[in-house]
Amino acid sequence: IQSKLPKVGTTIFTVMSALAAEKNAVNLGQGFPDFACDALLVDAVDQAMREGLNQYPPMAGVPALREAVGAKIEALHGKRYSAADEITITAGATQAILTAILAIVRPGDEVIVLEPCYDSYIPNIELAGGTAVRVPLVPHSFRPDFDKIAAAITPRTRAILVNSPHNPSATIWSAEDMRKLEELLAPTDVFLISDEVYEHMVYDGRAHESAARFPGLAARAFVVSSFGKTYHVTGWKVGVVAAPAALTAEFRKVHQFNVFTVNTPVQHGLARYMAEPQRYLALPSFYQAKRDLFRAGLARTRFELLPSEGSFFQCVDISAVSDLPEAAFCQWLTTEIGVAAIPLSAFYADGFDQRVVRFCYAKEDATLRTALDRLARL
Ligand code: PMP
Ligand code: GLN
Repeated sequence: IQSKLPKVGTTIFTVMSALAAEKNAVNLGQGFPDFACDALLVDAVDQAMREGLNQYPPMAGVPALREAVGAKIEALHGKRYSAADEITITAGATQAILTAILAIVRPGDEVIVLEPCYDSYIPNIELAGGTAVRVPLVPHSFRPDFDKIAAAITPRTRAILVNSPHNPSATIWSAEDMRKLEELLAPTDVFLISDEVYEHMVYDGRAHESAARFPGLAARAFVVSSFGKTYHVTGWKVGVVAAPAALTAEFRKVHQFNVFTVNTPVQHGLARYMAEPQRYLALPSFYQAKRDLFRAGLARTRFELLPSEGSFFQCVDISAVSDLPEAAFCQWLTTEIGVAAIPLSAFYADGFDQRVVRFCYAKEDATLRTALDRLARL
C-alpha cells in the first residue's frame, strides 16, 4: 500500500513505554501522572452516569462544560468566548489540533512549526495536504528566533503552530514573546494554533501567557487545552478549543464528521468539578514541588540541568554522562539503569541530536526518588 505517511512509525511514547514495561524500568518517558486523580472528580463522573447522562451530548460539547471553560478563560485572561459559538469540546488536544488543521489547511498550504515540536503536528499537516515549514527554536535555550520565523512566512503560509508551556523543552513564552508574535502576524492572514495543554503548569510565580490575552492573536487563533493534563486524567482524552466564531464554524464542520462529539458523563463530571477554581489554581505549587525534588536529585548527577519553567518535563544534557546518541542513550538508560526517558531528537523531523533527553516528573515522590537513586549511579 502506498502510505500517506511514509516516514511515520510508532510514536516514541508508545515505544519507550513498552520498553520501560518490558525492562521493569521507572517510566519517566511518556508524559502522564502515576498518581490518582481526585476521587471527587471520579464521583462527579459516576454521578453523571447514574443520573442517566449517557447518550450523545450536543455536537459541540456539554453546554455546562463549555460555559465553565468560557468563565475560566474570562477570569484568567480577560477574554470572553461565547460558549455557544466559540468553544468546542474535543477528544483530547490531539483531536483538537488535527481538526483545526484539517479545517483550515488546504493542499499546497504551508504551516510553520517550531522544532522541537510535539510529534503529531507534522503528520497532521501532511494529512491535510499541507507542507510543514520547520523553524528551529534556538538549540539548548529553546527560545523563539523571531527573525527566522519572519523569514519563513510566505504568501502560502496558512498557519503557525506554537506551544507554551513547551513540550519537550519545558520553556514558556513571555508576554514579550507573545507580543512579538502578534506584531509579526499583524500584516498577514496567518492563523495561529496555540497549543496550551500545560497552561496550568507554570512555575516560580510566572504567568501563562495565553494567546487569548492578545487581541491580535486571539482574533486568528485556535486556543487548545486538555483536561487530561490539568486534572491528572490523561486517559480520559477530553480537550477543548476556543476560537472566534468564524473559525469555530469551520472547526465544527470537520469535528462533526471526525468524532461528532465526545464522552457525555465525563464532560458533565468535569463541568461540575471545575466549578471550583482552586482545583486548577493549586497545580503550579503541586508540580513545582515535584520539579524541585527531581532537580535537587539530578543536581547530584553529571547531567547538565536545563530550565523547567513550565509543563511537567525536565530536560538534561547528557554529554558528560555518555557519548551515545540521544535515542541509543534512552534505550540504554531504560535497559541498564532502569529509568525511561525520551530523546529530544524524536521531536525533530530530521532527528537532530543535541545531546538532550526529556524526563517527566508527573510522578509520586516515591517514584521520583526511586528513579533518582538509579540515576545517582551515573
Ligand atoms: N500537545 C502537547 C504539547 C502535548 O504534550 C500533548 C499530550 N501529550 C498533547 C498535545 C495531546 O493532549 P491530549 O492527551 O489531550 O490529546
Ligand atoms: N504528550 C505526552 C508526552 O509528550 C504523551 C502523549 C502520547 O503518548 N501521545 O509524553
